[in-house]
Amino acid sequence: QAKARGRGRHVTYESDMHQGAVAQFKLDEALQLAVAAGTISLAFQPIADLGTGRVVGVEALARWYDANLGVVPPSVFIPAAEQAGLIHELGRQVLVRACTELVQWRDMTGNVAFVTVNVSPLQFEDELFPEFVMTVLEDRGLEPASLILEVTEGLLLEECSRDTLATLRAGGIRVAIDDFGTGYSSLSYLRDLPVDMIKIDQAFVGLADSSDSDRDFLGALIGLVRTLSLTPVAEGIETQSQLAEVRATGCAYGQGYLLARPGPMAMIPAVIENIAENAHA
Ligand code: C2E
Ligand code: MG
Ligand code: MG
Ligand code: MG
Repeated sequence: QAKARGRGRHVTYESDMHQGAVAQFKLDEALQLAVAAGTISLAFQPIADLGTGRVVGVEALARWYDANLGVVPPSVFIPAAEQAGLIHELGRQVLVRACTELVQWRDMTGNVAFVTVNVSPLQFEDELFPEFVMTVLEDRGLEPASLILEVTEGLLLEECSRDTLATLRAGGIRVAIDDFGTGYSSLSYLRDLPVDMIKIDQAFVGLADSSDSDRDFLGALIGLVRTLSLTPVAEGIETQSQLAEVRATGCAYGQGYLLARPGPMAMIPAVIENIAENAHA
């Protein structure tokens, strides 16, 4: 088809592809250097008890600033790290840093909140991963309940990840399903989900601002999570009406820009005032 539009077009198309490949190469190269140098940092976003506003946990989110590329979002560099085989090393760094910062923060504030760390499915394929996690915790004097690993729905369908998951949970480490509702879970598999927490994707939390039937759907989803005796977390709460809606359904925990944006650990408050003020309303 490119040929039919003339030779010039064909060449342009090829050179676009070439530019794309060059950009990818530059990204991969810079990423490899950043991982080797350990310069990828973390932002933390509070997870709050929607009843009281108390911060019960923080999610660690990877951040990369490169002098030439500028800010590269995790939606770009995490898949790149997975493809380049760098995710194991990056994932270990994230875990170590998250636990280290948690200890410092606990010492400073006396808060005993947990930290959640996003884990790529590829890390679960590594048999040595559970041992690494346990060692990181032990070395820092953290009890296993200090850490929650966030995994995606798809992971649970993979046979090879089941043992890793079971080993971690036997060691007292909790697991959350991230972006719940965006995968391909069947109801039968939901019944005996080997996890502790369910993070309801922002797409569903957004339904709170929509029609009655959409709100009912969100309520039913949170009800389902509660029926399964799992802890629901509403992700991406941006408006007061979303907050009011998820709270009304009895959703235990919430996270989102309305409560707090991701930032340095030292900036995390003990209580989200926004919630605390409305708690008795
Ligand atoms: P996620 O784990 O679902 O993290 C939530 C994302 O939503 C974060 O984006 C966060 O900044 C953003 N967010 C939080 N509240 C709101 C809100 O109210 N509105 C909107 N629009 N967004 C909100 P971020 O930091 O860009 O991370 C994107 C994704 O990259 C994460 O999604 C996670 O899947 C992945 N990721 C981040 N750090 C890591 C990591 O260390 N390891 C792995 N494997 N993946 C990571
Ligand atoms: Mg997450
Ligand atoms: Mg999420
Ligand atoms: Mg998400």
